[in-house]
Amino acid sequence: MSTSELHHMQGTIGFTQVGRVSFLKNEIHYSLIAQPKMIRCPCCGSANVVTRGSVYRKFQGVPLETKKFIFLNVKVPKVECKKCGIIRQINVGFADTKKRYTKSFANEAVKLMMGTSIENAAKRLMISWHTANGILQSYIQKKSAKNRFKNVRRIGIDKTYIGKTK
Ligand SMILES: [Zn+2]
Repeated sequence: MSTSELHHMQGTIGFTQVGRVSFLKNEIHYSLIAQPKMIRCPCCGSANVVTRGSVYRKFQGVPLETKKFIFLNVKVPKVECKKCGIIRQINVGFADTKKRYTKSFANEAVKLMMGTSIENAAKRLMISWHTANGILQSYIQKKSAKNRFKNVRRIGIDKTYIGKTK
């Protein structure tokens, strides 16, 4: 996969694939670095930052249909913000904070869990039951938050409708 294919399939916008791709038994490992436009303060978004080293984070990506597991080794720069003074990792837009998988991976996992047990999905995705369950629970939470919002809108529409008929 090239940088643009990774963007498309793994959602790794703002990161460029570099170096060698390693193929292990049933795994493919990519190395990614942040593009200059990503080097910003994660708190205030200021570009007035100085890089202070970097950390390596490994994320699981969406597996290929050929049952190859994808791993992304990402060099994440740490920046010192001249505006708010913090030293922190830049934002990695394609993954949630502290998660070891991409957002695209989580979406795929949810799709899979809609059709099978958490246990089966976890096995197929090569993650623990605990991780799979965590992905499902956070999906349910997000969805119910959205539904609550939808209900509010529907009530609003009903009121308008009643108002017009009176
Ligand atoms: Zn800042």
